[in-house]
Amino acid sequence: MKKTVTILFLCLVAFGTQAQHFRPDAFPPQEEPLAPKSLTMATTLDEMYQWNRYPTYGVYLEMMNHFVETYPDLCHLDTIGTSVNGRLILSLVIVGTATTDIVRPNFFYSSTIHGDELTGFYFMLRLCDTLLSSYGSSTDITNLLDRVNVYINPLANPDGTYLNDDNTVANSIRYNARMVDLNRNYPNPFGADPLDDIQPETQAMIDYANLHHFVMSANLHGGSEVMNYPWDSFTSSERPHEQSDWWKAVCQRFVDTCRLYNQRAYRSVNREGYIAGGDWYVIYNGRQDYFNYYHNTLELTMEVSNTKKLPTEQLSRYWNFQSHSLINYIKEVLNAPQPSHVEVAPCLPANFRVYPNPTRGKVTIETPEDIRTLDLTNQPSGLYLFRIEGQPVKILKL
Ligand SMILES: [Zn+2]
Repeated sequence: MKKTVTILFLCLVAFGTQAQHFRPDAFPPQEEPLAPKSLTMATTLDEMYQWNRYPTYGVYLEMMNHFVETYPDLCHLDTIGTSVNGRLILSLVIVGTATTDIVRPNFFYSSTIHGDELTGFYFMLRLCDTLLSSYGSSTDITNLLDRVNVYINPLANPDGTYLNDDNTVANSIRYNARMVDLNRNYPNPFGADPLDDIQPETQAMIDYANLHHFVMSANLHGGSEVMNYPWDSFTSSERPHEQSDWWKAVCQRFVDTCRLYNQRAYRSVNREGYIAGGDWYVIYNGRQDYFNYYHNTLELTMEVSNTKKLPTEQLSRYWNFQSHSLINYIKEVLNAPQPSHVEVAPCLPANFRVYPNPTRGKVTIETPEDIRTLDLTNQPSGLYLFRIEGQPVKILKL
């Protein structure tokens, strides 16, 4: 029997009842409501390329697609999933054109899981542009992109950023559309209580991590300036991360390079500019610990600006003192310590078949139980993730 595949981002949506644990970044005491002029919006791509504004949701989508149109040999766009309100969670995949037999590690940057922490969103768009436009002219960046597959998700919580309005970030909030904190929404390691309210944005990210093995990643936030390395669920004396020494060295390099350009950078939490998460504030169900524990991904939490909704006139200054560190952090993946156990999820469960190549038209997915039809005719190209019979399935539409 044939039937249409059900897209499985329909997850359990009951609100959680467990206690919430907030970092200080939930309540930056100095933050005042900003005058509208401080959050100037780019309403065209040309305005966005002046790099002194935040994009409207439409300009954000336009820019991500523009990268692919301008650099088709260097990048493609994945759709990680969709938000509660149907906005896209996108990832730009940047891969250099050099042919090599060496397996390139996958590196992942993701920002703004808290929808009102806007600086990283801007950073990631500017980083995409810098990497792509420098390939072939900068030896440093060319070598990097020829050795590492770089995945960049600028906006993990689009409903929180564009609350009720695609044309402004002034209303942005921490939570998703169901008022759930997405960085308290991941399965917690070490046998903690299971979650019963995993949100569509979280499930999509879990599926994306299942389908790629990210060796190293970072999740960008705002509200402080500090590099927060694992674990978040424990203090370092209770349970140090097995790579604590490596993390400290990576963080030290990041902060030192920022301070070459701005001596006052990364001083809001402590003198070092980095800290084991639990020593700052213990939280549970964050993405960092989930990625480290369940995926062997070396992920840390970057708090990149003391002000969450950084005024647009300050964006370029922040970029200028952190951009070198952000690029250097990607390079760290080439010397990342090997975890003792790595699990790589296949694109398809072994007993599933998909045909034909889903460039256009309908796709047939054959499982041991069923034959299903999926129609991507009117959908844009990119990666689509589904669950069929409980198994993650990846379809790349070219
Ligand atoms: Zn945050």
